[in-house]
Amino acid sequence: MGSHHDILVIGGGMAGLSAAQALAATGRSVTVLDKGRGPGGRMATRRVESQGETLRFDHGAQYFTARDPAFRAVVAAWERDGIAASWPAAGEEAWVGTPGMNACVKAMAEALDVRWGVRAERLTRSAGLWQVIAAGQVFTASTLIVAVPAEQAAVLLADIAPPFAALAAGVASAPCWAVMASFAERLPLADTFRSDTAPVSWAARNSAKPGRGGPETWVIHASPARSRKLIDLPKDEVARTILADFFAAAGTASILPMHLDAHRWLYAQPEARKDGEGAHFDAALGLGVAGDWLQSPRIEGAWLSGRALAALVD
Ligand SMILES: Cc1cc2nc3c(=O)[nH]c(=O)nc-3n(C[C@H](O)[C@H](O)[C@H](O)COP(=O)(O)OP(=O)(O)OC[C@H]3O[C@@H](n4cnc5c(N)ncnc54)[C@H](O)[C@@H]3O)c2cc1C
Repeated sequence: MGSHHDILVIGGGMAGLSAAQALAATGRSVTVLDKGRGPGGRMATRRVESQGETLRFDHGAQYFTARDPAFRAVVAAWERDGIAASWPAAGEEAWVGTPGMNACVKAMAEALDVRWGVRAERLTRSAGLWQVIAAGQVFTASTLIVAVPAEQAAVLLADIAPPFAALAAGVASAPCWAVMASFAERLPLADTFRSDTAPVSWAARNSAKPGRGGPETWVIHASPARSRKLIDLPKDEVARTILADFFAAAGTASILPMHLDAHRWLYAQPEARKDGEGAHFDAALGLGVAGDWLQSPRIEGAWLSGRALAALVD
């Protein structure tokens, strides 16, 4: 089975969708492939049925800032559309997707041709066209954009674009164990917790974010050092360990959770790049790379990178 496309984007996170949206706005035909079951990437929202209740956790990115004027305008439109709201508990400039962190990328994806559950396994080039081998299918395209975390981009690009692969291989991402917990009672704590020194770097009362509500839910992030130390342990054990770390760091007695789970982000946030080059496009090959790792290690950086890439494509 195969299909031909004008522009193929691998990765439907904020960077890939931002590139796809900007290219589609110029009249180009764009198809996005993403291995995930639905929209989010690292702006994910996990839905869990637990003891007759539906729980939702933003277990990846917690909030985003908007400093660039063009991104601020986009965020203002999201706010008007009811898919983003400011969240003062995390800081004056903090925004979240509503009702879940993935709402903004979900809305972007709905206006585009995105194929979910399609993992690009191998990229090849022949007769001036790109071939993406994915789940028994071959997608061909004139222009190919790779918008996945640096470590994954390095693997995909190794054979077909050694200079881009080397660029990606030069970026290391910090891992993050994220714990998701619900409680029968309200924890006697403020809505957010941050620390530069504790094994837990961040925790937030997820149910207190704008547009959420429901049972008391928390997302707790282990620091990069703590996450590395626990990296290969079973997730149930990690969840219990990090919850105990959190109660100790917050200085409160342990409370038994109703629901407890953990998710391991192997490539949570790239080391900040000093140059903020934005994106790269090889016009002769029709091949581009985008992602937070090329701009800055956050949602705004991913959006800006996608935009920068679209501007380079002719
Ligand atoms: C735990 C955690 C906390 C964070 N906290 C914050 C925060 O507070 N503020 C902030 O601004 N940012 C935060 N970030 C970072 C932010 O989430 C990212 O910078 C941003 O979402 C990156 O977008 P992206 O499009 O570059 O990558 P991603 O969101 O990772 O998107 C890449 C997409 O590519 C897909 N993919 C990968 N490989 C393939 C393949 N082979 N084939 C097909 N599809 C593929 C993935 O499924 C994914 O959807 C956090 C991230 C994590 C994980």
